[in-house]
Amino acid sequence: MQHHKEFHYHVLVPILLVLIFLPDAVRGQPNMDVEWKPELTEVWEPVPPIVTPGDGMNPPSDAVILFDGKNLDQWKSNDGGEAGWDVSGCIMTVTAGAGDIHTTRSFGDVQLHIEWRTPAEVEGEGQGRGNSGVFLQDQYEIQILDSFDNATYSNGQAGALYKQHIPLVNASRGPGEWQTYDIMFLAPVFSEDGKLVRAAFVTLIHNGVLIQNHVELRGPTLYIGLPTFTAHGRLPIRLQDHGNPTSFRNIWVREI
Ligand code: MG
Repeated sequence: MQHHKEFHYHVLVPILLVLIFLPDAVRGQPNMDVEWKPELTEVWEPVPPIVTPGDGMNPPSDAVILFDGKNLDQWKSNDGGEAGWDVSGCIMTVTAGAGDIHTTRSFGDVQLHIEWRTPAEVEGEGQGRGNSGVFLQDQYEIQILDSFDNATYSNGQAGALYKQHIPLVNASRGPGEWQTYDIMFLAPVFSEDGKLVRAAFVTLIHNGVLIQNHVELRGPTLYIGLPTFTAHGRLPIRLQDHGNPTSFRNIWVREI
């Protein structure tokens, strides 16, 4: 009887270890972790791939360019046709009524860089001032808004995970000034039978300032109500037409 009990505890430890490390395995990232042995100091393999860093308006060498100022070839409209936003002077601007635009490609986990500018001439207030948004995988919105001296609900200001996470600080620049979002997005993971294995997570740096630190999403962005995740795979990135002429430039993404 005694021997039987000990056997059970012995088996339990490796099972617990597997459970602890399961999320990384499920994520499917290439494993660059060191196999940990107490006597190990220098580790030479694997060698991380070389990426030439970006500089100003030049993206890193392994980035997928989504907008370089020339055209909207990487984007399509709500109905799958040509994206109807204005492109001029190396920037694109929301054409009110043209609808949201979607990347032609689909993505999972990404690092996304996007530069945006709300109109220099301030019109409207609250949610009606320079409103747009970055929807990761078509359904998780990071709010874009002129939040410079513009009161609105905190979970809907610039840098909010809309209605889910208030930004840590307000790092907004003024109307008419270019602003940057650097977004680290971990897509939700689902089991084969559609159950949520890992929620989506977002880290957001606004104008060089950390404003969302690995926050967990509760589900897709909803205007009202409690969201729940529904199983999906890779999906496009979407930019919102909220009726305000917000502009964009230098958009690129790196798959993680
Ligand atoms: Mg919005």
